[in-house]
Amino acid sequence: MYSTEIFEQLYTKLGKARFGGKVATYIPELGCVDPNHFGVSLTTIKGESFHYGDHDVRFSIQSVAKVFALVMAEGCGAELRKRVGVEPSGGSFNSLIQLELHKGIPRNPMLNAGALVVCDVLCQQLNSPKEELLEFVRRISGSPAIGFNERVAQSELKTGFRNEALVQFMRSFGNINTKLAELMDFYCHLCSIEMSTAELAQSFNFLANRGINPLTGKPELKPTTARRINAIMQTCGFYDEAGEFAFRVGLPGKSGVGGGIAAVHPGEYSIAVWSPRLGDKWNSYAGMRFLESWTSYAEDSIF
Ligand code: GLU
Repeated sequence: MYSTEIFEQLYTKLGKARFGGKVATYIPELGCVDPNHFGVSLTTIKGESFHYGDHDVRFSIQSVAKVFALVMAEGCGAELRKRVGVEPSGGSFNSLIQLELHKGIPRNPMLNAGALVVCDVLCQQLNSPKEELLEFVRRISGSPAIGFNERVAQSELKTGFRNEALVQFMRSFGNINTKLAELMDFYCHLCSIEMSTAELAQSFNFLANRGINPLTGKPELKPTTARRINAIMQTCGFYDEAGEFAFRVGLPGKSGVGGGIAAVHPGEYSIAVWSPRLGDKWNSYAGMRFLESWTSYAEDSIF
């Protein structure tokens, strides 16, 4: 059922949809990418991999990395539940509105505000947050060469006024402890991590495998926590298009403004797709439609 040929056919069948949407430019460096890239990789929990297109080209995974930060913060045993909710927001990724209503507690950890609180926890608890983050991502992906894209990180640091506003607003409610510059540095580096779809699919594999890293045979998370993170991805991973993604695709997943999407079919596989042009809700336009055609073809929605 899984094969490169099927991926190629499904991609070709997308027709004009392959070129729908626009590349994000609010982080200037993201606008420099060739919009015509497309790559997809699927890795089964038994270790088989299938790829099509630009599966070995690294790109900025942006918010997909929020899942890595959340997994690490769960590992810290932090009392996150009191500081970040688990409810879908129905709003955009960088919205300030709900924070006022909820007294500085973000609706969920997949929003920028929620991820900034998760980053705050990591900055407070880890000795070298950036190094430990890379160590974690290299371990789960099996790729020791993964790193930050310094140009993307600096580009976001120079222009991330909204995220700075979110941090300071949450600080006014007592929900942020780290100094602004240190927190922004960590958050922007997190978002700047560069990976290929092959590396991304591998790195999400433990979430399809009850928290066990198939590469090492060791747990990255307890099975209950892996299940909960999948639940958060399902309900919150696509901002105000989370319902649409569940409806069309039917897999827990997370998108990023670099045009990447990583998703898992628990007990089966993880899949990553990359196409830089985004729809009006900031999720990869062709990526989302490709995944819809994949789960329709494979009759593979978790529902
Ligand atoms: N670094 C991006 C930001 O904070 C992440 C947003 C996303 O990928 O959805 O704006």
